[in-house]
Amino acid sequence: MGLSWRALCPACPHGHPFPENLYIDTRGWTCCRQCWRTEPDPPDPPDPVAIDRAVAGDPPERLSARERAAAVARLDARGLSAEQVAERIRCTPRTVYRIRKRIRQGTTR
Ligand SMILES: [Zn+2]
Repeated sequence: MGLSWRALCPACPHGHPFPENLYIDTRGWTCCRQCWRTEPDPPDPPDPVAIDRAVAGDPPERLSARERAAAVARLDARGLSAEQVAERIRCTPRTVYRIRKRIRQGTTR
């Protein structure tokens, strides 16, 4: 098993220089650290207005998972209970608990 062709390139397809940014993942694939950190691009960038509305208790019809998580984080910072947060963003307390867990684990982006 040798290094893949990509590992032999001077840079990744996006121009990040190797070997500084070379990264072999758990499957033995050659990746770029910079790209690994920045891709894939989120399909829907969070809308700050949507988050503001949710925090204010008037969430838009379509609230993405990331926007909802951002709203939960903001309301948590104010010390609201899961039930109060759920009421604001129009979801169940169960969803709030799930989002809080994700926030603690740092898996929201
Ligand atoms: Zn790259």
